[in-house]
Amino acid sequence: MISYFSSRYSMLKDLPFILQGDNPEKKLRLTLLIAGFSSILAGFYMVATNFIKGENGVSALYCLSTAMGFYIVIAAFRDKLNKHLYIIVHALLLIIMLLFLLDNDHRVEKHSEYNYLVALTVGSALVLRQQTPYLSKIFPLICLVVYLFFISTGLTWQHSAFQLNIPHESGFYIVNCAVPMIALLLTAFTLRGNYSETDLIKRELSQAIEKNQLELYYQPQVDSNKKLIGFEALLRWKHPVKGFISPEVFIPVAEKSGLIIDIGKWVMEHTLQQIAEWDRGQHLSDLVFSVNISPLQLIHRDFTQDTLLSLSHYKIRPERLKFEITETTFVYDQKRIGDVISHFSQLGVKWAIDDFGVGYSSLKSISDFAIDDIKIDKSLIMQIFKNESSAIVVQKTIELSREMGLNVLAEGIESEEYFTYLRDKGCHLFQGYHFARPLPPADAQVWIKKAKI
Ligand code: C2E
Ligand code: CA
Ligand code: CA
Repeated sequence: MISYFSSRYSMLKDLPFILQGDNPEKKLRLTLLIAGFSSILAGFYMVATNFIKGENGVSALYCLSTAMGFYIVIAAFRDKLNKHLYIIVHALLLIIMLLFLLDNDHRVEKHSEYNYLVALTVGSALVLRQQTPYLSKIFPLICLVVYLFFISTGLTWQHSAFQLNIPHESGFYIVNCAVPMIALLLTAFTLRGNYSETDLIKRELSQAIEKNQLELYYQPQVDSNKKLIGFEALLRWKHPVKGFISPEVFIPVAEKSGLIIDIGKWVMEHTLQQIAEWDRGQHLSDLVFSVNISPLQLIHRDFTQDTLLSLSHYKIRPERLKFEITETTFVYDQKRIGDVISHFSQLGVKWAIDDFGVGYSSLKSISDFAIDDIKIDKSLIMQIFKNESSAIVVQKTIELSREMGLNVLAEGIESEEYFTYLRDKGCHLFQGYHFARPLPPADAQVWIKKAKI
């Protein structure tokens, strides 16, 4: 019972992260759910109050908006979301227009009803920004025109006829309503422009796997005798038009959009496939392959099962793998992370903490988990001869890690000088351009062949 509540609580606690990292479609569905439930709640209230006042026509109108709320909630769970979006936005616009025309019980409050159209105009410009040009551009403009029309004419339907209610000091009123509304819409359009580069990457990245644009490069890792001990698999995206796109650019986008789940799965699958291929030819079965695992990928429900299936499919021993995770991983559900780490540890997979020294870098917090290696970040390593405090941090990290029984890997080794200095300080493993850059598989194979001799 207690464990049930604690797991629900940790799910709630992690919700902001889960929502942040999820894909745009899920966000759109969530927005629809919120809009749907708000329509239902507000609708019920308005149906009841208007019914009590004897305003049966208006009450019926709000019945319609409540029904619309139910439709939106249902649509949030259905396929063919695009088709439902067309129906939803136009139905909302129609209901709001009917409201302006028919709800005439009050004078002053009437003006506040126009805010519904402000919400629909700006909301659609933002929420529908990844939909068709009609939904993302033309529909918000239609809403704007309808808004301008109603505030300037005050048109209503009363006593079986259309009535114009041109406001007093009409110029003043119209300018005061129109200018902020147009400014809001322009802000929404401009902000969308800021997102567009990321959106573009997101859209193209989602097709990169199918279009065969992803590749893995392998960077050698060596021990203190410069003997090859393994490789880190590093992802490359070869875009047909833009050329090479750095993982520093697209991995954060993949993490934010949730695409990292599929991409991470692809990386795991292809690394194992590559190990199997090299093993068949070289019989060098003690090399360890490091794979970068993003937090969302690690906490994904299928991670353990998918990885175990791939391991058994390619007949690779778990000892051949090392998973690199960053400290930010521990911000998520610690119990779950701990379970996954110890599960794979028991099978023989090694765990390394990547980018150590740039985050909040606490060896104490890591000691609770079955971690094997600390990878000191290249930005810190590259400072050791330039900045005394970096040199002290590196030295203390090596000493403490060794005391805790952890291996220390220094990345970003660009010259012999760095290698000898760090080796003499007690560092176990090394990676950097001084030994080799990340290599395409054919060049990595040359390294493997040389290591065999
Ligand atoms: P990282 O995990 O810290 O990987 C090390 C990065 O340092 C790599 O950049 C590597 O090319 C670069 N590097 C290695 N030695 C040197 C050196 O001597 N000097 C300098 N200046 N740089 C060096 P890369 O390949 O551009 O990858 C950048 C980051 O993208 C990685 O940082 C990792 O966080 C992420 N990434 C790459 N592949 C994957 C992947 O398959 N999955 C996930 N989740 N992230 C990945
Ligand atoms: Ca790494
Ligand atoms: Ca790193």
